[in-house]
Amino acid sequence: MNNPSQPPKPPPDNPPPLPVSMTNSATPERDIAQALDAATLDLCALTDAAPGVSVLIDREGRILVLNRAGAERFGVGQQAAIGTNLFSYFPAEVAESRRQRLQRLLADRQPLVFEDERAGLCYRNSAVPVIDRDGEIRRIAVFSEDITERWTAERRLRDSEARYRFIAENTEDVVWQLDTDMRFVFISSADERMRGVPREQVVGRHVTEVFGQRGRAILAEAMERRRQQEARGEEVSASFRFEAPQLRHDDTEVWTEVVSTRVYDEAGRLTGYIGVSRNIEARRRYQSTLEDVNRRLRAQLEEISALQAELKDKAVRDPLTGLYNRHYLHETLPRELARARREAYPLAMVMVDLDYFKAINDTYGHVTGDQAITQAARVLQKLARESDLVCRYGGEEFLAVLPRMALDEALQRAERWRDAISQATLHKFGTEIRLTASFGVAVFPEHATGGEALLQCADAALYGSKDHGRNRVKAYQPGMSTG
Ligand code: GH3
Ligand code: MG
Ligand code: MG
Repeated sequence: MNNPSQPPKPPPDNPPPLPVSMTNSATPERDIAQALDAATLDLCALTDAAPGVSVLIDREGRILVLNRAGAERFGVGQQAAIGTNLFSYFPAEVAESRRQRLQRLLADRQPLVFEDERAGLCYRNSAVPVIDRDGEIRRIAVFSEDITERWTAERRLRDSEARYRFIAENTEDVVWQLDTDMRFVFISSADERMRGVPREQVVGRHVTEVFGQRGRAILAEAMERRRQQEARGEEVSASFRFEAPQLRHDDTEVWTEVVSTRVYDEAGRLTGYIGVSRNIEARRRYQSTLEDVNRRLRAQLEEISALQAELKDKAVRDPLTGLYNRHYLHETLPRELARARREAYPLAMVMVDLDYFKAINDTYGHVTGDQAITQAARVLQKLARESDLVCRYGGEEFLAVLPRMALDEALQRAERWRDAISQATLHKFGTEIRLTASFGVAVFPEHATGGEALLQCADAALYGSKDHGRNRVKAYQPGMSTG
């Protein structure tokens, strides 16, 4: 390269081994020439080994030396490129700006560094003027390195950082980041809106400083619980979550839900923590109102269902005696008969009417009459089975439905009832009042199969009892008048 106007001798593609004469040369000129030759070869090898483009051009942009990467980039042979213009490898508009850069460099005599992005590729270029001993610039060394990969990664990082920052700054949740000492390195502006503490007063502070005494205790407890879980080898979720009040600038509290997670670098070392705090005041208020409402509602429901049960009972019971009423009997009888039919068992019906009751009323008054009715009812109920249905059918009339009971047994039962009623006494106005009752018995399916017909049969049998002097039990017999 001692003659700047001449391109240096390009290196052969396969450099020949050093001439043997180099080791045993005799003249100093020859030594120098050989040394220079070797230096050129070394330089060419070095530039060829570089991954970036190295090119040496003259003041017009003509290529004097192009390394292997350059030949590859421009799609030209290393030898063939020599003498061609560097700018001819660029699109016209790029070539023009390059020429201007070259002019500036020649004028400024300073190295130039610039980045250049084209068609999704990015290069970092530098151009260095070679200043000869006479101060002239005859050659310029140009290097160009493909930095697309790094540049793309950086751009992606910038984009994603911008995205996260946008989200962090525009969400109502407070987004924050702590270093490994648990000091804030970032906190989003939502914190100032929530707690009224400027960001500058938070960054650098320890995480516990956003909590009051109560919040700190909750945090400590949550951390301790997690530490114990980890120590026991239990699986803990990556995120750490707790609810605690934070302190506002005026020392009032705001309840928050805090979720955080540890951040590690590529080597797995802890680099800090990121997290989100959410104001849950409204949720808590709403929750406690909801709980109140729920409690009240539950109490009301209990009251209503108790009332309903009472009402239902009232609807089927006779208030004076507590026996089932006539309405309930009419509702239940078809069901009882259907079952008796289905399961083929007998069902007895006993109709009861107190004897000469008008006389009781007339002699002792209506109230005493009522007491007598109640007393008779008690006797009937007492001697009935669980499955029997005893109801007050009318004023001083009762009706008992006795499932799974045939005529004989029903007659015995009626007899026991009759006897018990006649034994019972009611003491009023210093006298002992005695009652008797008459009974009529009819049985399904022997006497009738329908409910109404069975009732008529029992009624006819009762009429028979009355007719035969009262205080007696009669079974239905065909031919009895059924009204
Ligand atoms: P019998 O032996 O023929 O049955 O004579 P009786 O007087 O009992 O005649 P009946 O059964 O026809 O009359 C029923 C009387 O019972 C009529 C009414 O004065 C009375 N009575 C009906 N319901 C009540 C009631 O709820 N309380 C009272 N105290 N008396 C009633
Ligand atoms: Mg009567
Ligand atoms: Mg009567």
